[in-house]
Amino acid sequence: MKDLKKKRMNSGKRTEKSINDLDERENSMNRVIQIKDEMEQLENQLDQLKKELYIFRENCNHEFVKTDYSQECTKCHLIESLQW
Ligand SMILES: [Zn+2]
Repeated sequence: MKDLKKKRMNSGKRTEKSINDLDERENSMNRVIQIKDEMEQLENQLDQLKKELYIFRENCNHEFVKTDYSQECTKCHLIESLQW
């Protein structure tokens, strides 16, 4: 009973080989769409984070640490150039 089931599965797999190849191609196509979707989502997320950081910096009571050519805020990590 168990052997028979296994045998049927194997023979079934062989005849479906070409269909599996097609599925694989379709899967990689879907993966491309998935990747593009993910990239779009991450770009939106990045935009959001940039906005958030911008707002944070706008409201920051900066505490700058000076180096030779620039100063960096220790709170929001804003870097300003000291070269005019
Ligand atoms: Zn700051």
